Amino acid sequence: MGSYYSEVFDRRESVAVDVGGVKVGGPNPIVVQSMTNTDTADIDATVAQVAALHNAGSEIVRITVDRDASAAAVPKIRERLERLGLDVPLVGDFHYIGHKLLADHPACAEALAKYRINPGNVGFKDKKDKQFAQIVETAIRYDKPVRIGVNWGSLDQALLTRLMDENHEKGGPMSAQEVTREAIVQSALLSAELAEEIGLSRDRIILSAKVSQVQDLIAVYTELARRSDHALHLGLTEAGMGSKGIVASSAALAIVMQQGIGDTIRISLTPEPGGDRTREVQVAQELLQVMGFRQFVPVVAACPGCGRTTSTVFQELAQKIEDDLRRNMPVWRDKYPGVETLNVAVMGCIVNGPGESKHADIGISLPGTGESPAAPVFVDGKKVRTLRGDNIAGEFETMVDDYIRTRFGTGQVEDPDAA
Ligand code: SF4
Repeated sequence: MGSYYSEVFDRRESVAVDVGGVKVGGPNPIVVQSMTNTDTADIDATVAQVAALHNAGSEIVRITVDRDASAAAVPKIRERLERLGLDVPLVGDFHYIGHKLLADHPACAEALAKYRINPGNVGFKDKKDKQFAQIVETAIRYDKPVRIGVNWGSLDQALLTRLMDENHEKGGPMSAQEVTREAIVQSALLSAELAEEIGLSRDRIILSAKVSQVQDLIAVYTELARRSDHALHLGLTEAGMGSKGIVASSAALAIVMQQGIGDTIRISLTPEPGGDRTREVQVAQELLQVMGFRQFVPVVAACPGCGRTTSTVFQELAQKIEDDLRRNMPVWRDKYPGVETLNVAVMGCIVNGPGESKHADIGISLPGTGESPAAPVFVDGKKVRTLRGDNIAGEFETMVDDYIRTRFGTGQVEDPDAA
């Protein structure tokens, strides 16, 4: 048994899958995914949104392929992205007619890095297995992985009915909810078995089982992980808008990931009208970062403020620093290797300000109520300056920029002792 304080946990061993150059599963870090909400046939809008999602940090982006016009647009979208220097893998989301679209649009089949299919609506009755096989055969021909994505809302009804009947015949030992969870797990596993029988190798299969309730997600993924070693994509479907969606997704995914389960995640947020689609990427990164699984952007520690703070200066400064860091990351990632490990503290008063600032790489303790209007700045644990006057925020921002350039800049570090 591990130590009570241990952060070490066993990551479930899954079979790694290569998705257009991005490794999902095995020992690889948990991958962030997202999905567009543009009409894929609208090439300009889709390219712009894929670019925005990728620049925000999405390592794989899924797009809807729902009709001929969308399938025809896919290779053009791929080409435009490449011209922009964006090699983000694109996943095609297929429902009902995926087999036909892939057969009729070979350039689409080639341009996509992965096909996502839902066994609940790949086809019905006697057509189901045939159409499923057609998609899998296309994946084999083009050497593409497939995500078998079961969804609570479009669960294979024949399978669910059979399991309900079997449960009833046994006297109903399982509740309807338990049978439904079992149907979700079985739908994913049976479809994966079928795909393997057709000839798709294990390292070309990713499974997901999207549900909309936190407890269902935990139960279903725990069981999927116990019964298979396939790479798993995690996500709470229909998580909702705003804080509700963020909290529900974070609660569910955190518990599952803490058990070592999950190789790639998506946070399915409903954007508010006019809202930014890249928010789901930001939340996914923040979740992985706060849990200590990955580092994407520098951390800004800010106190919540209380009755000792006289103004909102520190809140505004913390927000501004955080926004600046996030905005600059696409360029800084290459220019300043390791910058994502930076810790900045912006604190509101003397109570915790100096202490927290000393723990950060660079931190500022702003003056609270009754304190003299001075803001000590700490760099690597030492007080280096005290800022005063009307431009404390501006001067601190310049100090953060200088710190980043000096510490993380390659070949341009100025040695302070050299003068
Ligand atoms: S650091 Fe000061 S201002 Fe911030 S929460 Fe603590 S006591 Fe309040």
